[in-house]
Amino acid sequence: MKIARYIFRNKESYGVLNQESILPLPELAKRFKTHFPSRLEDFIVESDETLQKAEKMMINKNRLDIDSILLPLNAVSLLAPISFPPKIICLGLNYFDHARETRSAIPDEPIIFMKPYTALIGPSQKIIKPTFVKELDYEGEFCIVIGKKGKHIPVEKATEHIFGYTIFNDVSARDIQFKDGQWTRGKSFDTFAPTGPYITTKSHLKKTCDLAIRTWINGDLRQNSTTRNMVFNVSQIIYHLSRIITLEPGDMIATGTPAGVGFAMKPKCFLKDGDVVRIEIEGIGILENFVEERA
Ligand code: MG
Repeated sequence: MKIARYIFRNKESYGVLNQESILPLPELAKRFKTHFPSRLEDFIVESDETLQKAEKMMINKNRLDIDSILLPLNAVSLLAPISFPPKIICLGLNYFDHARETRSAIPDEPIIFMKPYTALIGPSQKIIKPTFVKELDYEGEFCIVIGKKGKHIPVEKATEHIFGYTIFNDVSARDIQFKDGQWTRGKSFDTFAPTGPYITTKSHLKKTCDLAIRTWINGDLRQNSTTRNMVFNVSQIIYHLSRIITLEPGDMIATGTPAGVGFAMKPKCFLKDGDVVRIEIEGIGILENFVEERA
């Protein structure tokens, strides 16, 4: 299933992508005379139960009249799939091709940093570039959404803790990032974490080890790689992080960016007002955002 959070007629809900429509899950549950939480975050917290239930409903949905609850995709506004993740953890230098282009050593353990939830925006929302940011850059990333709490999770059990996967743009102000020598300020601005458009549930994405990941700026292909180039794969990331931090339902883990970022280009090429950033990951979809410069 591809699950989206959206607003329709001023009301927030969530549902499954069903061709060119959204099938609202709380409404679908009612048709099956059962109940789902009204918020996607709570659906994820209870995913041990809700996920299986929803998958069964999707298989049996055609026995019921669902046409009356279907919403055309173009009638809803898609939101960031999660609005208040307990944590947004990001990996740095987790692609061999990106480490190479930045002439960085391959890390022997994941390099991590965090972003605040106030940086989150959804598909089609604007990335705001304050005028004092001179070197705005994009980083297309494959993002894990945690479904089950855990600490010290072994590699072979990591998948049990995953809810699904989405797309993440680790927007970065390079001038500030490199001036500070650590990454919090340069990567934490409001709107510097576009995500979405859907969470593909883990059973729907059979492999995570070789997915095409591409980023275009105004139609110009800049990043063209595959998750095969990751230094630490999804299960290894969960193992390493959970040795340090308790992972919780709704946590987002952005797994690093491949080669092709703007600051590694010759000449360097940064984002400017009006630019369109489009990131596509195989099996998830396309995340598109516009840049707007503001004083
Ligand atoms: Mg990154």
